[in-house]
Amino acid sequence: MRLRRQYLTHNDCYQAGRVIVPRGVMVHSTGADNPRVSRYVPGNELLGRNKGENHWDRPELDKCVHAFVGRFADGEVGIVQTLPWTCRGWHCGKGRLGSANNTHISFELCEDSLDDGDYFRAVYRQGVELTAVLCRMYDLNPMADGVVIGHGEGAKRGIASSHGDPDHWFRRFDRTMDDFRRDVARQMEGDEEMTQGQFDALMADWLRRQGEKPADSWAVQLVEAAQAKGLTDGSRPQSFATRQEVAVMVNAALNTVK
Ligand SMILES: [Zn+2]
Repeated sequence: MRLRRQYLTHNDCYQAGRVIVPRGVMVHSTGADNPRVSRYVPGNELLGRNKGENHWDRPELDKCVHAFVGRFADGEVGIVQTLPWTCRGWHCGKGRLGSANNTHISFELCEDSLDDGDYFRAVYRQGVELTAVLCRMYDLNPMADGVVIGHGEGAKRGIASSHGDPDHWFRRFDRTMDDFRRDVARQMEGDEEMTQGQFDALMADWLRRQGEKPADSWAVQLVEAAQAKGLTDGSRPQSFATRQEVAVMVNAALNTVK
């Protein structure tokens, strides 16, 4: 997870200073083709800089979320936290039964043109990881009813204004909020699936480190003796031998017997 912080201290929501006890996390998407977080925060070198002076760090906007997920200056996806997690956000209006502003931490997934699967998956992944961290932080069960919800789900439950985000975006890449909750739970269990490439890299690194270890004290003299007889070059005493290396060593050993 790539998480940075830039609080929107000039936003009325921050200024109001109301505090909530988080009971859940609400997922939004922005509804506008602006994948860069610098559209929404003043920014800096890392985040990218807002040039239109249309960021949310100013008074009289009547809206604020706790974080944005989108592209940083380098084009890679990250998260910028914009409010303390327990500050009451203004992100979902209200429904007939009340407002999730009083109960839910909120973040916006910064939409692009909604056609780029790689961008969607990167944003979705960061959203999952952030939600998992927040659930751990506030002892929330992401699979429990009403805890991790989209804005659209909040509207159906009567605790948010009538919006459909982020489902309209998720749908284009065969994801639902049910998938999102499951992925958050899986992330919390720590059983993320590893790719073959990640496994290969870890294995290569482990072998390299094994290869750099010296022989154990009990084996030092034996390795030296074998080296003196030409059975081994003595290198990588703690690493594995391949079958071709074994063939060479066995052959050398048989030759010394003759
Ligand atoms: Zn929303």
